[in-house]
Amino acid sequence: MQIAEIIRVLEDWAPLAYQESYDNSKLLFGQKESELDQVLVSLDITEAIVDEALQKGAQMIVSHHPLIFGGLKSLTGKNDAERALIKAIQNNIAIYALHTNLDNVSSGVNAEIGRRLGIANPKILAPRTGILKKLVVFVPNSSVQSLSEALWAAGAGNIGNYDQCSFRSEGKGTFRASAKANPSIGEIGSLHQEEEFRLEVLVEEAKLSGVLKAMQLNHPYEEVAYEIYAIENAHQEIGSGMYGDLAEAISSEQFLKQIKQTFGGVVRYTQAHKDEIKRIAWCGGSGSFLLSRAKAIGADLFLSSDFKYHQFFEADNQILIADIGHYENEQYTIGLIAEYLRKKFPNFAVLLTENSTNPINYL
Ligand SMILES: [Zn+2]
Repeated sequence: MQIAEIIRVLEDWAPLAYQESYDNSKLLFGQKESELDQVLVSLDITEAIVDEALQKGAQMIVSHHPLIFGGLKSLTGKNDAERALIKAIQNNIAIYALHTNLDNVSSGVNAEIGRRLGIANPKILAPRTGILKKLVVFVPNSSVQSLSEALWAAGAGNIGNYDQCSFRSEGKGTFRASAKANPSIGEIGSLHQEEEFRLEVLVEEAKLSGVLKAMQLNHPYEEVAYEIYAIENAHQEIGSGMYGDLAEAISSEQFLKQIKQTFGGVVRYTQAHKDEIKRIAWCGGSGSFLLSRAKAIGADLFLSSDFKYHQFFEADNQILIADIGHYENEQYTIGLIAEYLRKKFPNFAVLLTENSTNPINYL
């Protein structure tokens, strides 16, 4: 199999367009057409992880955190990240990262944390705006259903828990074919009127090119009349963090113990502001920027990591902050990525790292 195949399925799940602007998720080293038969999945890439890939014979490492994050102006092995990269290059081990794009999709990092917390049907905490487009296409009545189905199959028309969403309004289209045209309906040189539908569907930016291709392939006209609009609606399935309700309210003490049991490490938390908690918000990785959003949706507890001392004061007796550690809250991402790849390629070797890359020890 080629590296390109792995990348295609990963980016189908977590499109690069959904990463944050500061991020660097993508193929960081390697050639897409290189052949491989084993991939190693990890949270971080350290020199020890590259050694592990070498020892196990993996030709590609897929990690959550990008090995190259800021700009590289030299590569001399002055730190572990550079030594890892040099070793990967020398041994032709491809390096791929899916980071905030995997945080921001509804079946990614935060969905996995939600599963571990036992919360059913979680929602995105801060849905993202600016990634939805509206496609309007004019289509003769006889082709409206088949064209709709082609657009849906290419990924258009999804709203929350519904698919095959569209709006159709009837009207009359007019056109006159020039001498160079090859019209499927109407005669060259004479004005033609056709009963048409104005068909409207929502499309995610990342799926737009595929949807336009499907539109061109499945529309009967030589020239397709269509319009694309940027819309401001938030995408319910894409964005930062998640929230949901526990099946039953429990004491914060009991919930904190459960967290500790599930994620290990050390739980740093603020004072409980009510006897029982039910609504939980969470964000894998460093999620303190979502605290006010968690308060706004009425969360009783916000689970994340990397809170600074002064940020704990911001709980302000309105919410309980539980900082469980960055490695701890993202540790299950390794299994999540591996499981996804194994489902897509049942006969291909997907290895989970056996090395913990957590740089923090606890006394
Ligand atoms: Zn992280």
